Amino acid sequence: MSSKGTFSFEFFPPKTVEGTAKLRATRAQLAQLKPAFCSVTFGAGGSTREGTLGTVLEIIGEGMAAAPHLSCIGASRESLREVLAQYKGHGIRHLVALRGDMPSGTVEAGDLRYASDLVEFVRAETGDWFTIDVACYPEYHPQAHSPGEDLDNFEKKVRAGANAAITQYFYNRDAYWSFVDLAAARGITIPIVPGVMPIASASRLARFSDACGAEIPRWIRRKLEGYGDDTASVRAFGLDVVTDLCARLLEEGAPGLHFYTLNSAGLTTTIWQRLAL
Ligand SMILES: Cc1cc2nc3c(=O)[nH]c(=O)nc-3n(C[C@H](O)[C@H](O)[C@H](O)COP(=O)(O)OP(=O)(O)OC[C@H]3O[C@@H](n4cnc5c(N)ncnc54)[C@H](O)[C@@H]3O)c2cc1C
Repeated sequence: MSSKGTFSFEFFPPKTVEGTAKLRATRAQLAQLKPAFCSVTFGAGGSTREGTLGTVLEIIGEGMAAAPHLSCIGASRESLREVLAQYKGHGIRHLVALRGDMPSGTVEAGDLRYASDLVEFVRAETGDWFTIDVACYPEYHPQAHSPGEDLDNFEKKVRAGANAAITQYFYNRDAYWSFVDLAAARGITIPIVPGVMPIASASRLARFSDACGAEIPRWIRRKLEGYGDDTASVRAFGLDVVTDLCARLLEEGAPGLHFYTLNSAGLTTTIWQRLAL
């Protein structure tokens, strides 16, 4: 961990032999940056259960700290209990607890409905064994009825025993600081670490943002659209925007950064180096 905060990387478990090789190469590069930990996503309904664990164990074997994600949507208490026992059996002490999203068209089922239920369950089953991170949304979760209710629900996760939060990505610092201030006014004191999405492709970013409700400010969207297929310009502009965002967040007191690497090392490494972390 840097003296300036907690800096971490997120990966998803690869599905192919090529993807596994690429992620290993990515990790070899990112390991040199000495992150506090690397987290690995977990597919809804346990679809990546073995892949998540396998990737986490590789990361630990490479000498880095790792935190698997765990989502409860579509899962039974029994299956969650099994996953927790597996994590515990491997000496894993840090996880990211989420509700998860089912692919569209799937019937949502499962014993636990919300991430706060999962945090409560993990604490009831395993006490203080795990450090638990949860998700939060400076621009509010797309399914939330209102910002106030979303904050109520975030507070439930914290009161259920979360130790830290990682935000959905955003490009608007005011949204983050407003959320942090509103949380603080409720007595929430856990670190709220900004999630950072480097910009590699305008179309991919637009697709993600539509799905998760993160706003791409108009001036950024227009500039990206203007570059068309000129990937080098998209990446150069994206690096300037995201590095500036991160630098200002840290100057203003953000407790660290969590990079959504999408299993690539290049942009994250450049941002990290420019920030001199
Ligand atoms: C850092 C981070 C990591 C992620 N990793 C993964 C991953 O590995 N796998 C994956 O599938 N997805 C992942 N996601 C996506 C996440 O699962 C989705 O954003 C999902 O839609 C919400 O998950 P949550 O844990 O925030 O849910 P919750 O906190 O349960 O909130 C979901 C919605 O329900 C509402 N709500 C919560 N509690 C209540 C209640 N008691 N009553 C009424 N409404 C309530 C909230 O306001 C919100 O609108 C991640 C997101 C982030 C930000």
